[in-house]
Amino acid sequence: MFDMNYYGTDEELKSEKQDLPDLCHKCGRCCRSATTFNSYKKLLALVEQGDKEAIDFLEIFEPYASIEDARQVVPDQVEQVMKTIADRDDMDANEVTFYHCRYVSPEGLCTIYERRPRCCREAPGHGWSVMPPNCGFEGWQFEQREKQKRMIRDLKTSAYIMEQLSPDGVHHPVRPDTKLEDLRLMVLEKIKPWKMFGSHYW
Ligand code: SF4
Ligand code: SF4
Repeated sequence: MFDMNYYGTDEELKSEKQDLPDLCHKCGRCCRSATTFNSYKKLLALVEQGDKEAIDFLEIFEPYASIEDARQVVPDQVEQVMKTIADRDDMDANEVTFYHCRYVSPEGLCTIYERRPRCCREAPGHGWSVMPPNCGFEGWQFEQREKQKRMIRDLKTSAYIMEQLSPDGVHHPVRPDTKLEDLRLMVLEKIKPWKMFGSHYW
């Protein structure tokens, strides 16, 4: 998955997929500061293997020669992305590449709007993409993150209540065929994709 500035997995993305409201200010900063979870080297290898999303991504995005070059263009976003990566143990800051789009106009508008690829049509797509500061989607992303947290809290609360109501501390109070242990495992499985965002503490 090559969603711009998103460092999660397909699984997480699928669980949040939805129509996007029209909140873009058309500043063009995300078009000049794209990054991906995969390194540039990995993207090139995927292109060699015929991966369509990697091909689409590199058809529009050109890598900056260095992080410093990207910093000259979008300093606040480079700062933000580098901070995010520093907090992750599954990403290496030395492997990060920033990209700028070949089709963004000097005014920040998309010159291929009608045929822009999926990663652009769906960005930011969910609450966890690292969008440039003051992006028009900031409030919407906040709402998405809160919604996700509420969903997980409700799940944990419900599992806790079932444990309290269990007649023997082993079986589900309403579905005796289900063991509480299975319920616990199901909850852990549900919150696992969000672990990197702190889901164990929500
Ligand atoms: S940074 Fe946000 S407001 Fe600016 S162009 Fe990208 S999506 Fe639109
Ligand atoms: S194709 Fe258009 S929307 Fe996508 S990054 Fe380029 S300018 Fe932005």
